[in-house]
Amino acid sequence: MKKQVLIVEDKKINRELLNSILSEEYEVLEAENGKDALDVLSVHKNSIALILLDVIMPVMGGFDFLDRVKKDEELSLIPVIVMTQSDREEDELAALAHGATDFLTKPYHPQIILHRIAGLIKLRETSAMINYLQNDRLTGLYSKEFFFQKVRERLFEDPDGDYCIIGSNIENFKLVNDIFGTREGDHILKEIADITKQMVGSSGFCGRFSADRFVCFQKREQEEKNRENIEHADRNDFSPQLRNIVMRWGIYQITDRSVPVEQMCDRALLAADSIKNQYHQFYAVYDDSLRKKMLREQAITSCMEKALKEEQFEVYYQPKYSLKDRCMAGAEALVHWIHPDWGVMSPGEFIPIFEKNGFIHKLDQYVREKVCSKLCELKEKGYPLLPVSVNISRADVFNGDLLENILSLTQKANIEPEYLHLEITESAYSENQEQIIRTVNELRELGFVIELDDFASGYSSLNMLSQMSLDILKLDMKFVQNEIVKPAKRSFLTDIISMAHRADLRVVAEGVETKEQVDRLCAVGCDYIQGYFFAKPLPAAEFEKLLLKA
Ligand code: C2E
Ligand code: CA
Ligand code: CA
Repeated sequence: MKKQVLIVEDKKINRELLNSILSEEYEVLEAENGKDALDVLSVHKNSIALILLDVIMPVMGGFDFLDRVKKDEELSLIPVIVMTQSDREEDELAALAHGATDFLTKPYHPQIILHRIAGLIKLRETSAMINYLQNDRLTGLYSKEFFFQKVRERLFEDPDGDYCIIGSNIENFKLVNDIFGTREGDHILKEIADITKQMVGSSGFCGRFSADRFVCFQKREQEEKNRENIEHADRNDFSPQLRNIVMRWGIYQITDRSVPVEQMCDRALLAADSIKNQYHQFYAVYDDSLRKKMLREQAITSCMEKALKEEQFEVYYQPKYSLKDRCMAGAEALVHWIHPDWGVMSPGEFIPIFEKNGFIHKLDQYVREKVCSKLCELKEKGYPLLPVSVNISRADVFNGDLLENILSLTQKANIEPEYLHLEITESAYSENQEQIIRTVNELRELGFVIELDDFASGYSSLNMLSQMSLDILKLDMKFVQNEIVKPAKRSFLTDIISMAHRADLRVVAEGVETKEQVDRLCAVGCDYIQGYFFAKPLPAAEFEKLLLKA
């Protein structure tokens, strides 16, 4: 495709002459004066490779036009050759002073014109390429490779300087794009880039590595000041869209310069990722324990599918006891991972990772199947049947198939719904309230028993409690342990339990480890107890042995 050249010249004859010289090599656009030329530019500014400009024209002369062009960030990059009448030095100087790239004197000399134009276009393309490689086009920050290069240079120039790399990440940026559209997303990215640049100032520099991943290099002392500034920043200074954006920052302190720069940046970003979705933590400093944790997470993620196929997951049962008669009243299913190399892992170690990467859906489905078939087996063996509760992960509460799935499992296993209790954590309730209320109510209408797990662990909402139909309140372990050591008058235990009873809810306390705790919970009217005092989570075979005694 031919490149475009714009001729701005009032005399028709001159335009025709230039056109005949250029048209073989270029696509020629024409304008009669500066104003016309601006109109042409408004349409073709991205494709015009060069402008040939006459000085004296009616309506808008060449220099006025040049002044306008040079003020515009994008237009100012197009090379302009000014055509002067004579080779008077003042004219040439004036042209250059107004920002012309070069000048030519009339009359035209075809070969010279063609050579000059070709040379200038090439020059501009080369510098645009360098600029493109060095800077991220959207934000003007350094590109990844260029950022690496600059860090290496700076570390080399200043062998004793105390520097750090800060990686940052916008939380749920994909969602921002989905909700506001990519244009608005781009706008937000630019604004963030500007704030970042401002924050780093002239002592450091910044780059953008991918859509929403930014990286800065700066002196360590400066970084500490920035952190304070950000913490005290007034969000009202930002645009409305930006006010709701959450960013996580990861800091890698450069102590060992033999670490490759690419890895330093990876680690800074890793630190930022490690606090994803954490409510109140915006900074993380990279250290070795973080590295180990992330490596562990990667290792777990890479073998989880295989583990499920090979049945490495095993359901353990932790009994719950009734305080009235001290008999076993049910159990909670807690999945364990019997890993061939790592041994037995308790769910606290891997469930949060599966909740993050989505694998929890599959695992929960597996656990529910196992529990239902175990209940069926026990029934067939003639055991007195006790209810078993399964944990419903937060993500699954929003899964439209949950209801049908649970129902068909119990029907297949020939289990009455009341023998399958569903533990839903309290935090699940605070997200999409209406949907959860609906799901919970429907499950309950089908006869399943709903336990509100981890009650009083954080986001308690009494309002929700009043709207939802529940059966059992499961007091959070930490809460129980904290309240129990308080003198009776200052403890909330009694109040919460009597409130629950008034609402027709039974109460389970979890994490009960000592006799004192049992006595105290008995005194305040708690209904059930689950905890190491009575039994730890047990493999199915051991749980069965206990059932025999029950
Ligand atoms: P959770 O539902 O709050 O389960 C109670 C946790 O407290 C269990 O930890 C249990 O072993 C522990 N525990 C019970 N009694 C005591 C005690 O007396 N003292 C102490 N210190 N701890 C006690 P675990 O087994 O590590 O489970 C952690 C969490 O993992 C569970 O918390 C539950 O939210 C989740 N989880 C376990 N199995 C599954 C599952 O199959 N699906 C889903 N979605 N989540 C599960
Ligand atoms: Ca639970
Ligand atoms: Ca719990």
